[in-house]
Amino acid sequence: MPILAPNRFDEHLAAAGCSLDRARLEVLQVNVGKLCNQTCRHCHVNAGPGRSENMPGEVAERCIELLAEIDTLTTLDITGGAPELNDSFRSLALAGREHGLRVIDRCNLTVLFEPGQEDLADFLADNGIDVIASLPCYTAENVDKQRGDGVFQTSIDALRLLNEKGYGKTRRLDLVYNPLGPSLPPPQESLEADYRQRLREDFGVEFTSLICISNMPIGRFRSDLKNEGLLDGYMEKLSDAFNPSTIGSLMCRTYLSIDWRGFAYDCDFNQMIDLPLGGDRQRNILETPVAELLRQPIATGDHCLGCTAGSGSSCRGALA
Ligand code: SF4
Ligand code: SF4
Repeated sequence: MPILAPNRFDEHLAAAGCSLDRARLEVLQVNVGKLCNQTCRHCHVNAGPGRSENMPGEVAERCIELLAEIDTLTTLDITGGAPELNDSFRSLALAGREHGLRVIDRCNLTVLFEPGQEDLADFLADNGIDVIASLPCYTAENVDKQRGDGVFQTSIDALRLLNEKGYGKTRRLDLVYNPLGPSLPPPQESLEADYRQRLREDFGVEFTSLICISNMPIGRFRSDLKNEGLLDGYMEKLSDAFNPSTIGSLMCRTYLSIDWRGFAYDCDFNQMIDLPLGGDRQRNILETPVAELLRQPIATGDHCLGCTAGSGSSCRGALA
């Protein structure tokens, strides 16, 4: 018996003869909260400087225990908000490295210049932590429009600092692109070539690869679309572009996403709309064994069409 009412995404799955089942759990994604030094327009977390939701030490400790308990993990993916502003960020990242995992810091770049973060670039480099950073365009005008005045120049300064520490050269520095409005991202390969040329020639900046993600129809972006009367059209666009070949690579198949309180979700997007893993009720890692979490079905909704449109979309970029 499905717990959630059927949605357009499920209808597409059924029509394509596909199902969405869990595969081996590879990625523990920990969202330490909504505290951020920026307030971007497209933010699906609705993060900002005024947010008080911040993972307490007890939950971070349980996340660290999970790194030892789950022997199939390859990656610890730490996100927020600006995850570096959480008191447990560094101990969590170090624990991931001690377990031999790839550790990802989803960094907004400007945080590198926040008070108290003067040694952040060295911490990341010295401990072999990969950086995935948002940069929705290679021009100041577009980035500042989406992320706030002056954010582009500070981001370029941060990229140069990371380059100095070897990021984008011997260390992994991936950039994230998302469209400015209700359209699908262009092909990842060609856009990556444009980014590389413009950032290198205009600013002397190097990076490893470009990750293209669709804007998910949730959070602040959804509210903006609704207010502008564009939401229905965007949902139609995502539905029309449904691509069944993305299903096998959807991140919910191999991810476990934990929120700042310890509640478990199938992905960061479900986390943002409070759609719990299993779809029926909240389960917290402080009380629920991992095996029980992974027995629950993946919870889906219309917003999932954002992951399956066109080339597909995930925290790791295009899927198909
Ligand atoms: S998109 Fe990232 S940097 Fe911008 S407000 Fe949200 S969490 Fe902060
Ligand atoms: S939104 Fe989450 S649950 Fe839905 S398809 Fe994307 S990754 Fe899977």
